[in-house]
Amino acid sequence: MTLLKNQNILITGGASGIGRASAMTIAKDGAHVIIADLSPGTEVVEAIRSAGGSAECHELDVTCEGDVRTLVRDVVTRRGALNGAFNNAGIEGPTAKIVDLSFEDWERVIRINLTGVFTCMKCEIEQMSEQDNGGSIVSTASIAGLVGLAGAPAYNAAKHGVIGLTKTCALEYASKNIRVNAVCPGFIDTPMLDRVTSASAQIRDRLIGAIPQRRVAQPEEIADVVAWLLSARSSYMNGAALPVDGGWVAQ
Ligand code: NAD
Repeated sequence: MTLLKNQNILITGGASGIGRASAMTIAKDGAHVIIADLSPGTEVVEAIRSAGGSAECHELDVTCEGDVRTLVRDVVTRRGALNGAFNNAGIEGPTAKIVDLSFEDWERVIRINLTGVFTCMKCEIEQMSEQDNGGSIVSTASIAGLVGLAGAPAYNAAKHGVIGLTKTCALEYASKNIRVNAVCPGFIDTPMLDRVTSASAQIRDRLIGAIPQRRVAQPEEIADVVAWLLSARSSYMNGAALPVDGGWVAQ
């Protein structure tokens, strides 16, 4: 309960999947959770409150800088500080090799998965650099930010970009007591993975066969790492891109 006690933590994409599990875990660890998602997060907020935690939700597009900045300022006005942020909202985009990928799909995946993280990180760091205690930022990259995955050129490029942005911002703000890290999930049991593997049961089976631990992860297994990265328990972690992937990138 004490890991994140009295921290105000923003979670984008907190209405579903990894973001939802992280919101539940982070609230259980004592933080007040601010969920920002295109979809309503009311179900998650109710679940957190029923479990004795504290949370609020806001419908917001992470690519809209004005809305993100307004939310950050509003949180600070009401609650005094923004202590942490988990930039996690993202989309899978189409499965297609580069010659079959339209410019529009390329642009949409980059806009949400990379520019969305840029926009949030910029607004969060603007605020945290004015706070005595700085803050901790974690963004969701992917194993697709560490190695190539055929059939997802825009997604791969965006996730590699999230890691580059993470490293650069970690260097720029380390002296201001702001830590910036990325988590790199492998294959996680969420609605996104269901959509990606929905074409046939064999796709999922083949995927599982290629994972060293021979299973996908539950989103709570990512949430525990995110909570730790957000907390002072990881106080010397900075600029890291941490795989949580059942051994995938060790192959
Ligand atoms: P999900 O689809 O369950 O959840 C994604 C959430 O992001 C949704 O609630 C959605 O409404 C929200 N979102 C999408 N676009 C948004 C926008 N423009 N503004 C605000 N919110 C927006 O997916 P998930 O699997 O939980 O994915 C979460 C993150 O994890 C993504 O960044 C994804 O790329 C990454 N990831 C997922 C896996 C996996 O196997 N599931 C693996 C590696 C990385």
